[in-house]
Amino acid sequence: MHHTPLLTTLAAGFVLAFVLGALAQRLRISPLVGYLLAGVLAGPFTPGYVADQALSQEIAELGVILLMFGVGLHFSLKDLLSVKAIAIPGAVVQIGVATLLGMGLAWFMGWPFGGGLVFGLALSVASTVVLLRALEQRQLIDTQRGRIAIGWLIVEDLAMVLTLVLLPALAGSLSGSGETSGGVLLPILLTLGKVAAFVAVMILGGRRLVPWVLERIAATGSRELFTLAVLAIALGIAYGSAVLFGVSFALGAFFAGMILNESELSHEAAENSLPLRDAFAVLFFVSVGMLFNPAILIHEPLPVLATFLVIVFGKSIAAYFIVRMFGHPNNTALTIAASLAQIGEFSFILVGLGVSLHLLPEQGRDLVLAGAILSILVNPLLFIAIERLQARREEAQPTQGASVEEDLPPPVREHDHAILVGHGRVGELISARLQGEGTPLVVIEDKREKAAELRERGLSVVVGNAANLDVLNQANLASARWLLIAIPNGFEAGQIASQARSARADLEIIARAHFDAEVEYLEQSGANLVIMGEREIAQGMAQRVEETPVRHEPEMPQSA
Ligand code: AMP
Repeated sequence: MHHTPLLTTLAAGFVLAFVLGALAQRLRISPLVGYLLAGVLAGPFTPGYVADQALSQEIAELGVILLMFGVGLHFSLKDLLSVKAIAIPGAVVQIGVATLLGMGLAWFMGWPFGGGLVFGLALSVASTVVLLRALEQRQLIDTQRGRIAIGWLIVEDLAMVLTLVLLPALAGSLSGSGETSGGVLLPILLTLGKVAAFVAVMILGGRRLVPWVLERIAATGSRELFTLAVLAIALGIAYGSAVLFGVSFALGAFFAGMILNESELSHEAAENSLPLRDAFAVLFFVSVGMLFNPAILIHEPLPVLATFLVIVFGKSIAAYFIVRMFGHPNNTALTIAASLAQIGEFSFILVGLGVSLHLLPEQGRDLVLAGAILSILVNPLLFIAIERLQARREEAQPTQGASVEEDLPPPVREHDHAILVGHGRVGELISARLQGEGTPLVVIEDKREKAAELRERGLSVVVGNAANLDVLNQANLASARWLLIAIPNGFEAGQIASQARSARADLEIIARAHFDAEVEYLEQSGANLVIMGEREIAQGMAQRVEETPVRHEPEMPQSA
């Protein structure tokens, strides 16, 4: 076989990540841990196969670009503003406390100031992936606590973007190499100037040009071209901004995502056309794992333990007290503290930068990685612990229940109702019609923005993935009459149907399909009726032809 390093690295990365990710899922731990361990296996510190390091790091860079593009795409000022009173001061103070704790630890280990700063900052930011998943699993996204945690995370994201921008400029003075005779101010001003120029170009030009291009491409009707356009925008802006303005790939990608965020249409489209993002984000975690030397767990157990304690207790205790100080109830403070007691992707990006700028010793990266893996593993246990604690408190003081109650998502009071899963192209039409007829309706929708908008329109909405039985129960499955599954993904629809069927033998389940095989699968999963979109379209078209009155041919003039 000829030499194919890129192919080998990709294949090994995907296969290992898949196997260990699936294993982690099975063991009910975060798949992130699986991906990181896949990296450790493919890395140079464990026996057996060793992937190409340089190539993996470059693939990881692509992962970072797509990840940051995703952060930009989901960046919602509205989410932040709705809880700004607590989220902004809370996050700022918590980042400060965690950074100081990390710096203190670094000082003990004799690292220079710059290294301590990077290390502290890396410990101070939580992983979006882990946080959202934890909130989703516990149906907390839709509560006040969940909203505060998400707003808090947005502030952390912003602080990290700022750090990624400023760190390279400050590296000279932080490492004390004395290269920057112009002082600290000049490089910062220069960087901020470049960033400002980049932002101005994006706002003045990009904001108009990008949606315009996307609209034109959408009009061609080629999905392939559309996906390509989104990728070209993400990578093109990230790379172009790095070359032209000297800003990092990450910042460029973040802005590219934000620009698409401007219009609902391009946001949705970009979101749907980027399964590639997930794939490369996974490879990013694999490549981070490759750098990890597990020997640190044996050689330096104390620093590992201290790092772990800063992440899991230092950060969360600080967050707990801040939230309490702002007068929020105990359960809110506990949930937010538990949500933030972990670190992930941003920390990896940051330590990667720190090591490459020669600020952070490699040991720092290993500590952050060990701390991340351990804290992500422990995170679900923290949630279980606070749930127990809350239950016990409530038993002791039942009157306190009121403050918990207020924080629950709006209750569903409908009965004998239709539950509609998915309010998209199909769901929207169904919902309009049922509302018109006055049929009681509860919508389950997993996109938060969309759910909020529907609620504003007066609909009863449960936010979450309907494949989760808890979510179905929130929609008052017990007394529903119909379940209308109007989502395009057949596997997921089957999962929803079988969950609902096992809970309710007498429910009328109607599902949507696109293929014959899907129809069969959905029927086996418990649907009473499956409507296949394509069949209905064909029928509509044929019917139209059949209904057209027969046209009488004009008599042809007789030819001579
Ligand atoms: P469309 O593809 O236009 O038919 O839209 C489908 C809608 O269903 C989108 O708004 C999705 O957010 C939503 N959706 C997809 N899967 C689920 C799910 N498992 N639970 C709840 N909503 C979903």
